[in-house]
Amino acid sequence: MFVYLDNSSTTKPYNKVTEVMMQVLEKDFGNPSSLHSLGIAAEKHVKSARKSLASLMSVPSEELYFMSCGTEADNAAVIQGALSRKHRGKKIITTEVEHPAVLEPVKRLKDMGFDVEYIGVDRKCRLDIKSLKEAVTEDTVLISVMYVNNETGTIMPVEDIALFKEEFNKKHGSSILFHTDAVQALAKVPLYLKDVDMASVSGHKIHGPKGIGALYVKKGLSVKPFLVGGGQEKNMRSGTENTAGIAGFGAAADISRDNFDINKKAMLNARNRLLEGLESEIKDITVNTPKADESAPSVLSVTFEGTRGEVLLHSLEQDGIFVSTGSACSSNKSGQSHVLKAMGLSQKEIDATVRFSFSSFNTEDEMDYVTEKVKQAVSRFRKLGSFR
Ligand code: PLP
Repeated sequence: MFVYLDNSSTTKPYNKVTEVMMQVLEKDFGNPSSLHSLGIAAEKHVKSARKSLASLMSVPSEELYFMSCGTEADNAAVIQGALSRKHRGKKIITTEVEHPAVLEPVKRLKDMGFDVEYIGVDRKCRLDIKSLKEAVTEDTVLISVMYVNNETGTIMPVEDIALFKEEFNKKHGSSILFHTDAVQALAKVPLYLKDVDMASVSGHKIHGPKGIGALYVKKGLSVKPFLVGGGQEKNMRSGTENTAGIAGFGAAADISRDNFDINKKAMLNARNRLLEGLESEIKDITVNTPKADESAPSVLSVTFEGTRGEVLLHSLEQDGIFVSTGSACSSNKSGQSHVLKAMGLSQKEIDATVRFSFSSFNTEDEMDYVTEKVKQAVSRFRKLGSFR
């Protein structure tokens, strides 16, 4: 059996995605800035993809800018967002559990003289919203909080933060920007972006291609471009557009929007089935993902006491099952998960943690197979390590 359970790292592109990408690469390969018919055909793909993504995100299409990946969108939002407000203050608020695509640019800003406050989470990666609100001062210029955590699936209180920021700005005449990294939320949870100023998304997490992302920037914000040059993407992101990637992202967005409820249910069914199986078949496990209404249906993080996640991963691979230890979408292979650490797990617990991440392609039968194989692997490991 082949069971792919590493969908938070990346997803398999839909057939429609590869089809449209091939069409762009082989036939509609013009530069969208060219005035001739090949250019116009390419531009059409970009325009239509922007509409598709805007519809999935429920934002106006003219407020979306295609970029090379989720990481670029995060970097652009955090660095350019903070720099655009540097005359107003120097405090940045973020969380201890952001993806490195946010944490690293924030570090750069710190080196440049900004003050940074990191807000913590509880044992299930739920944000300490009270501390976040207390941290906001008139010196604050940027808040960056992810929508869904990539290691646990925990949903962050984005709507609450957005409304709080709006009220604070009104009351104090401030112009704090609120950015959310929505890479793991897109097509998994309904997005609330009404009072959010910037949001990053990525193609390859929703069965689109790798190497394409987008940043939503609310109209009227004076956020300057990150890449300057030929003035593409209405001057917000210069560089000839990755038309095949954009067209593929658009196709994935269409399918995700049209099948949002069905896909969500399929992921949830798979997750529930696996969770029930693991909990009934294996002793001494801890589930790190919070319950269904507090998490995206796509992730299940489990600590198997007395084991090593890395060994389980390779053992499961022999059975055709693909999982992850921490976050495989960063090149940090050392297993030093800053997310699980921030949640209060010991190093031993972190080492014994496996992330299963789902797509709508997963079935309940697959989950029964995975339960059985995990049970065998855990039992083998525990015998060797004379656990209990
Ligand atoms: N943000 C989060 C939460 C992620 O999980 C990822 C995963 O890779 C990224 C950002 C980076 O996206 P990309 O791989 O498109 O650069």
